[in-house]
Amino acid sequence: MQYELSHWEYESFYRDIDVAVIGSGIVGLAAALHLKALRPTMNVAIIERGPLPVGASTRNAGFACFGSMTELMDDLTHMSEDDVLSVVEKRWRGLQALRQLAGDENMDYHGWGGYEMFTDEEENIFQACCERMPEFNEKIGRITGHPEVYRVADERLPKFGFKGARRLILNQAEGQVNTGRMMSALLAKAQAAGIRTINGLAIRRMHDEGSGVTLEMEPGWTIQVPKVLVCVNGFARQLLQRDDVWPARNQVLVTKPIPGLRVEGCFHYDRGYIYFRNLDGRILLGGGRNLDFEGEKKEDFGAHDRIREALTNFLHTVICPDEKPEIDRWWTGVMGLGPVKKPIIEQTSANVTIAVRMSGMGVAIGTLVGQQGAELLLKA
Ligand SMILES: Cc1cc2nc3c(=O)[nH]c(=O)nc-3n(C[C@H](O)[C@H](O)[C@H](O)COP(=O)(O)OP(=O)(O)OC[C@H]3O[C@@H](n4cnc5c(N)ncnc54)[C@H](O)[C@@H]3O)c2cc1C
Repeated sequence: MQYELSHWEYESFYRDIDVAVIGSGIVGLAAALHLKALRPTMNVAIIERGPLPVGASTRNAGFACFGSMTELMDDLTHMSEDDVLSVVEKRWRGLQALRQLAGDENMDYHGWGGYEMFTDEEENIFQACCERMPEFNEKIGRITGHPEVYRVADERLPKFGFKGARRLILNQAEGQVNTGRMMSALLAKAQAAGIRTINGLAIRRMHDEGSGVTLEMEPGWTIQVPKVLVCVNGFARQLLQRDDVWPARNQVLVTKPIPGLRVEGCFHYDRGYIYFRNLDGRILLGGGRNLDFEGEKKEDFGAHDRIREALTNFLHTVICPDEKPEIDRWWTGVMGLGPVKKPIIEQTSANVTIAVRMSGMGVAIGTLVGQQGAELLLKA
């Protein structure tokens, strides 16, 4: 919809912005809150193209996780140990920052642990994990303070009732959150702090003039603001024309309530490409991107029939083979990936700072990244 900006709209809603944060996901909200905490008199506005944040933050699985053993072992084949441990540390610190900011009760945090599931055919991978477990417990214990982060938890398999699962490794320091409640809590905090969130306004282009940044909006008009912090994660390719961030879509489902469900915790399977958890007596299941990497490299939301079929099959044959629960809802979310598992927190011009590329771990790292982005903007 194209329309001109009225005098009243401009004067009352868009004129006195000191910092415009683009994107109201976890990163944008954490950044705006941090700016307000550090500079209470600063006029901070968040500009969001959706009626709600519509990227990943309201569409994820809510795993409060920081590293399963196979993921970290795989990372060690192409990253230095220091880099791998530094990613784990960021996720751990990020989770503590999120818990402090949103509050465990407000986001229904449960420390039920994160599991990795192995089939018969994966016995050799499981054994390789067992061999390195003492070393991992020692190194990751130093980061988390947990005396035994990883342990074999095969004894829990009968309780959960999975079919075809042979082994379980439990990460005892992981948890889960209710994503909707987490985002409601952050949005309420932002409102209480006097941060204006302007929804339904997409930024088409931006230009740093040196004296400030001109933002070209979708309705066809422009405003100027002194500073901009861009927090658009998987949409950075569109807005910033960067080729070191790309979108990665994920399919997610939630079942109808399953009477007597015994599954409790967050579960990773197939190197983390498939993930599921319990959610108020239901199963939330997502992933399957590895079935069509190119097909899911999209900014658009939408179904991928073959992946949805594979996830449904996994639900009915492995997770709940006896109940074969009905699916209540499907959706998609868009993550921001890149050639390395590192967020980009950069000042890209005199008045523009960016905090993007959460590598599919923004629940874990997003709060910290937003806070670091805010601090960098204040230094610039
Ligand atoms: C299905 C799925 C499951 C996931 N599960 C987990 C998990 O269990 N644990 C975990 O740690 N992480 C998980 N993630 C990743 C995590 O959700 C993301 O890393 C995190 O939410 C990213 O937050 P963000 O604020 O950077 O980006 P987003 O939440 O994507 O926010 C970016 C915002 O920018 C807005 N925007 C984009 N372009 C413009 C524009 N031009 N103008 C104005 N606004 C714009 C978008 O509408 C969006 O609201 C998952 C992601 C997905 C998709």
